[in-house]
Amino acid sequence: AKEKGRDTIVVFEREMHTRVSERFELEQDLRYGLEQQQFQVYLQPQVDHQGTIRGAEALLRWQHPQRGLVSPIQFIPVAEQSGLIVPIGEWVLQQTLSVMRQCEAAGKPLRFAVNVSPRQFRQADFVDSVKRALQDSAADALHLTLELTEGLLIDDPQSTREKMAELADLGVHFSIDDFGTGYSSLSYLKRLPLRELKIDKSFVQDAPNDPSDAAIVETILAIAQHLHLTVIAEGVENDEQADFLRQRHCFLMQGYRFGRPIPAADFVEQWLASANP
Ligand code: C2E
Ligand code: CA
Ligand code: CA
Ligand code: CA
Repeated sequence: AKEKGRDTIVVFEREMHTRVSERFELEQDLRYGLEQQQFQVYLQPQVDHQGTIRGAEALLRWQHPQRGLVSPIQFIPVAEQSGLIVPIGEWVLQQTLSVMRQCEAAGKPLRFAVNVSPRQFRQADFVDSVKRALQDSAADALHLTLELTEGLLIDDPQSTREKMAELADLGVHFSIDDFGTGYSSLSYLKRLPLRELKIDKSFVQDAPNDPSDAAIVETILAIAQHLHLTVIAEGVENDEQADFLRQRHCFLMQGYRFGRPIPAADFVEQWLASANP
């Protein structure tokens, strides 16, 4: 047993070592990738109950010369830990605002949602950096939604509230991403200047067939109605899910059923050429 224990430790240490160095390598690649403009912003449509595009979410993509297309699930946590998410996040915001401005100038404004990581939001100059990006782009703050996660909202209520209030005063909307997957305390909902709850895809996808998920979706819709918040459902893949949501008056949806994330330039081209409003 003793021998076996020692072997296990050796194996474990070796694994640890690989993981640490892999992480380190990924971090260096990220840094270099940012310099070398290997990142791209993709946009995924957000539609209303008639399928009309109302907005889009910016989703980051990393095209690495050797690794290929790396999923944000893999690199966002490393970017978050290393702090690289701060310049990366600022870059995503700038890119998105430039697209937003382009749509405004063409007379076809749209609402754009940008993910904000906790590390980015906690920066002392977060509010200033958003303000600066808005000024530099000349885009309208009224068309910007920032998606925050629940964990952040209960973390540091005082400064969180102040930061949100300052941006909300400019017209920026706040949406709670992955709503329902985080914390059980809902008291922050009434204290913060929120506009939207975003139902996580894990609930949306099983709602038509799983009574517990259906109940969670219905509860979120009821909470939102009481607090006068908009609701958007993410991860809508089929008509069954879309019908389930529409029947319960969830009118904003996002998911493969309505469009996959595509490169921002392609999205704008399609949007400006469409007969939509
Ligand atoms: P998220 O914010 O919850 O974004 C939704 C994810 O679901 C996206 O994955 C999107 O491509 C995917 N998705 C959209 N429609 C469907 C569908 O119908 N079915 C399924 N199965 N999936 C769908 P993605 O693009 O891989 O991003 C993963 C996560 O990475 C995001 O989750 C977000 O937390 C993070 N992320 C992406 N871009 C950024 C960014 O610019 N900044 C930060 N901080 N995080 C980002
Ligand atoms: Ca999101
Ligand atoms: Ca999600
Ligand atoms: Ca997420």
